[in-house]
Amino acid sequence: MEHSPLSLAQSLLRCPSVTPAEGGALAFSESVLREAGFEVHRPVFSEPGTPDVENLYARYGKGEPYLLFSGHTDVVPPGDTGRWRHDPFGGVIDGTELYGRGAVDMKGGIACMMAAALEFVRERPDFPGSIGFLITGDEEGPAINGTVKLLDWAKARGERFDACILGEPTNPERLGDMIKIGRRGSLTGHVTVEGKQGHVAYPHLADNPIPNLMRLLSALIAKPLDHGTDHFDASNLEVTTVDVGNPAANVIPAAARATFNIRFNDRWTPESLEEEIARRLSEAAGNHVRYTLTMEPTNAVAFLTEPNDFVGFIAKAIETETGIRPKLSTTGGTSDARFIVRDCPVVEFGLVGQTMHQVDERVAVADLDRLASIYRKVLDAYFPA
Ligand SMILES: [Zn+2]
Repeated sequence: MEHSPLSLAQSLLRCPSVTPAEGGALAFSESVLREAGFEVHRPVFSEPGTPDVENLYARYGKGEPYLLFSGHTDVVPPGDTGRWRHDPFGGVIDGTELYGRGAVDMKGGIACMMAAALEFVRERPDFPGSIGFLITGDEEGPAINGTVKLLDWAKARGERFDACILGEPTNPERLGDMIKIGRRGSLTGHVTVEGKQGHVAYPHLADNPIPNLMRLLSALIAKPLDHGTDHFDASNLEVTTVDVGNPAANVIPAAARATFNIRFNDRWTPESLEEEIARRLSEAAGNHVRYTLTMEPTNAVAFLTEPNDFVGFIAKAIETETGIRPKLSTTGGTSDARFIVRDCPVVEFGLVGQTMHQVDERVAVADLDRLASIYRKVLDAYFPA
């Protein structure tokens, strides 16, 4: 049976898979992939304190190289459905656009990947490599029972991937604008300065922690962490809150706290960054400021997929289809690519992200066809006849 990107996207949008609910989206994907000859598994992962999550892993072929498509079928809640022009789970086409929660983030992307892969294996059933799907239902939620465990599960079965395309919406304005070849890391820290509480009229009997905290924070932001690298902007530290919680105007408080978050490039690891932060604070504190620094654990490290042949195939396919030469970017927040990159090079390219997570999330029907055609061109280039 033939499946168009549009009909696949509509079927997926009609599944109310608000994270962590499966909503029928993985069951539908399973049936379509199985019918096309994929071997499909649906592992469910659990962890105390988080909801159980269903996932999907599918593979066609036994040979190498192995190209993996990755993504998620869970979506964020629609919010007030009364504010939507169309039912967020209706898969409604209005004019040239398809409406629904997940239209661009990222059931639309999944539909395009599946349409391209189904067409490819139908036309070249005996191609020498393998095509896989690694789809989680836990990207928009805690992301604990999703991609990380699914990759471990696949590895334990002996699966080895050569390259991966993640279909998150990467284009800011038009299809073809942007491929993401890396992502910055994220690290959060807390600094607390201890003082001595007292009467504001008798400051010599107290020790105000606030000026000392200001001194430490100034030291953190005084110098840039770096000036960027070949493919990344400069790392950036933002102080996100300063808290004293002192309700009285005539009391010098006992302690003052601040939190900061750093988005960092491939010049740093979380460890080297923590060392740099500790060094700056200790220099500013000297001998007399009492403070503690705690860093939150992070799994968001910076990564880069060097612009190699694989990135070249994708860029070429995009340019052929859209006439646009895509920008190779590392901007934006973190994504599941940070987990996949431990196992194989990963590149992100999907739909236009403008309406993601918004009311009236929607995608141009023409973009679905064009994205499917781009993925198909990538398959043709990756598995030359
Ligand atoms: Zn997404």
